[in-house]
Amino acid sequence: MQLGIYIHFPYCLSKCPYCDFASRAEAVIPQERYTEAVLRELRARAAGYAEPKREVVSVYFGGGTPSLWDPHQIRRVLAACRDLFDVQDEAEITLEANPGTTDEGRFTDFRMAGVNRLSIGVQSFADSQLLVLGRKHSGSDAERAFRTARAAGFDNVSLDLIHGGSGHTVEAAARDAASAVALGPEHVSAYALTLTGLAEDVPMAKAVRRGEVVLPSDDEQAAMGEAVRRELSRGGYVRYEISNFARKGFEAVHNTLYWRGIEYVAAGCGACGFARGSGEGAFARRYMNDRSPERYLARVEETGIGEASFEEVDRDQHLRERLFTGLRLAEGLDLAALEKDLGLEIRSPFAKVIARLVREELAAYDGTTLRLTERGFDLHSEVAVRFF
Ligand code: SF4
Repeated sequence: MQLGIYIHFPYCLSKCPYCDFASRAEAVIPQERYTEAVLRELRARAAGYAEPKREVVSVYFGGGTPSLWDPHQIRRVLAACRDLFDVQDEAEITLEANPGTTDEGRFTDFRMAGVNRLSIGVQSFADSQLLVLGRKHSGSDAERAFRTARAAGFDNVSLDLIHGGSGHTVEAAARDAASAVALGPEHVSAYALTLTGLAEDVPMAKAVRRGEVVLPSDDEQAAMGEAVRRELSRGGYVRYEISNFARKGFEAVHNTLYWRGIEYVAAGCGACGFARGSGEGAFARRYMNDRSPERYLARVEETGIGEASFEEVDRDQHLRERLFTGLRLAEGLDLAALEKDLGLEIRSPFAKVIARLVREELAAYDGTTLRLTERGFDLHSEVAVRFF
């Protein structure tokens, strides 16, 4: 069985106005105290994943801005992961980095600590768009961060792009994608700016509601997405997930675990974990750590874990989640394997839904695997809802 480990680092240099992540701008980061809390939580969590034996194929440091974490502390966390879990030699070990928060010495130290993949939050190469997004780095900082990563020995680098900020145009979005391609990373994530869900309360969403900020229309945003995909495809990147593109063999291991419904351990403020149960009770359990760094630290120091809430996931809920996430992948969803895994009938109760998707050219189906077409990808949420 495969397993991932997600470790969240909540601190940033400043808070971006569109950000709904568990993140906090902090002038003085409690490096030692935070590391101790994460180590303590990892030790407590390991027991829940001990049987049956799982092979860790990915460790992911997300944030926040984990490139602000001292490399020495990252090394300690990775050593604990190896002590407590069966981390495979070839495991993907990713660290998110922000342009402007790093230098070659620091990147080299991360590499030496065992990190083998960097995910750089570029968002845009245009300074005007970075200003709109409230980012504190420039386009040239992003290019420099990429070159620094290469100089430090990273041969697996992902760049994150966002399109659809105020004033962004189809041409500018295409230029961002072309600039990413010109650098030649192994992987690109390209998301549309969304201000829904938790993001409804972020400053940018409030400014939009007050009419102070005007975002591109849905149609304009869709056209930007199309332009970005065109540039990435021209550059040789394969769209293996709705918003993720890679050179062959460089698809993100970690996120693919989420999309395939595989378990992951979580440690750190705001981190979410997923563990399959056994027996007749709940099929699985999802737990959510406290999103406030202070409360997270206090909880771990008191109880050993930072958990603020959890939910039991039954088979039907897991089926809905797997349909939602699995259909994001170009490889599609193997419904026969899913039936076996969940002990549920899927193909026959949903036969009419599937037949209609195929008729409308939203999906292809070979009797086992259901795959969305490009058009289906564009309407993914609407397609997934038809199963619910
Ligand atoms: S750097 Fe990333 S995590 Fe930090 S505030 Fe900005 S978007 Fe959020």
